Amino acid sequence: MEIHTCPKCNAPMDEGYMSWSGSSSSGYVSKKQTGMLRRVTNITLARACPNCGYVEMYLDPKELKQRIS
Ligand SMILES: [Zn+2]
Repeated sequence: MEIHTCPKCNAPMDEGYMSWSGSSSSGYVSKKQTGMLRRVTNITLARACPNCGYVEMYLDPKELKQRIS
């Protein structure tokens, strides 16, 4: 498995996903999405640094591009 290091402190990061209130995925909505249908782009991957607490999140960029273009 590829080791990702923290961009802030260079410690090896822990990999997981975002979860609010028990749901298995959570999403991102762009401010550019101003229409009636504001579809959420799922955040598919997250990494957290056990050293400094920095969290980074990833979604599907193709999905987001479709929603803001
Ligand atoms: Zn860190």
